[in-house]
Amino acid sequence: MFAKEKIDQVLESYDDFRIAAICSHSALQIFNGAKQHGIKTIGICTERFRELYESFPYAKPDEFIMVDDYSRIPVDELVEKQSILIPHGSLVEYTGDSIEELAIPIFGNRGSLVYEKSRTKMFKWMEDSGLRIPRILKPDEIDGPAIVKLPGAKGGRGYLVVNSPEEYYSKFKESDKTMIQEFIVGVRAYAHYFHSFDGNAGYKTSYGKVELMGMDRRMETNADEIARQLSVGANIPISFTVMGNQALVVRESLLPQYMEMGRGVCDSSKELFGGIHGPFCIETIITEDLDIYAFEISARIVAGTNILETPYSLFTHGKDYTTGMRIAEELKDAFNRKKLAEITY
Ligand code: AMP
Repeated sequence: MFAKEKIDQVLESYDDFRIAAICSHSALQIFNGAKQHGIKTIGICTERFRELYESFPYAKPDEFIMVDDYSRIPVDELVEKQSILIPHGSLVEYTGDSIEELAIPIFGNRGSLVYEKSRTKMFKWMEDSGLRIPRILKPDEIDGPAIVKLPGAKGGRGYLVVNSPEEYYSKFKESDKTMIQEFIVGVRAYAHYFHSFDGNAGYKTSYGKVELMGMDRRMETNADEIARQLSVGANIPISFTVMGNQALVVRESLLPQYMEMGRGVCDSSKELFGGIHGPFCIETIITEDLDIYAFEISARIVAGTNILETPYSLFTHGKDYTTGMRIAEELKDAFNRKKLAEITY
């Protein structure tokens, strides 16, 4: 992991800052949010996507740095331009393990991304946060529907559901590094949070406050419209490839649990890797008994926030407030108070 002290030295050399992001995932929202707070932006872009990002006047970056592919982040040029890189799903995916070594200030804590990337670490993190989680099974323990996740699978692609040890062994080899989870039956809800070192909204944590910004339900093909396939006689196995997101609100009586879960994740993060700053998401399934199971944490902005947030951000910040705006506000505030080092690594 690149040394925090070196990132702090880079930050000390900044007399202003810009927000930079890879042109993908939630970049339009991030640039739009920065613009609304008067912060200049840099889009790291490939030729293929430039026209798209040029085509939204209120969300296009002020400047492009063109690259051949997103696995190579032009760190020297970005640092020269006093940039802070905003991590999103595509940055995590394209840079892989090398994200830990990037010699540029990243908003939040890159330590949290290490926990996001490893399923074993993630389950430890969720357990330490006091979340209710699905049972993790060995192949011989499969006693009902179980979802089998392959290493590194992103966006649900390639997951399989099996119902018995025999079915598992017919599809996977002993050497496959899969994680088998009990399949939780219920409705999914992806809760978007923002942890602020100095916010005035939300629940108190051991080092700040955690706000609820919104919720969504991922739309997954073909799981989400499987009734259509079945009704026309197409008996195709369920799959979970994310294709988009829909806004969601939950019963108000469930909100205290969601707030407690958000606080739990922040407090355990402090113990495990020094804390989480900025946006994160807890991916949950609510059962018919209204038990909330968490099956994943995303330790950065999630694409579900691209929907203009649900009423929760309105109740916290007023009309039309996005996570992109919240990121810009937090960075601006920290910069003005010379506290950028507290919320970037
Ligand atoms: P993930 O890659 O963990 O975000 O999972 C992708 C999708 O698989 C989720 O959005 C859910 O639809 C589904 N899924 C993951 N874990 C479970 C689980 N334990 N029970 C039921 N569905 C799950």
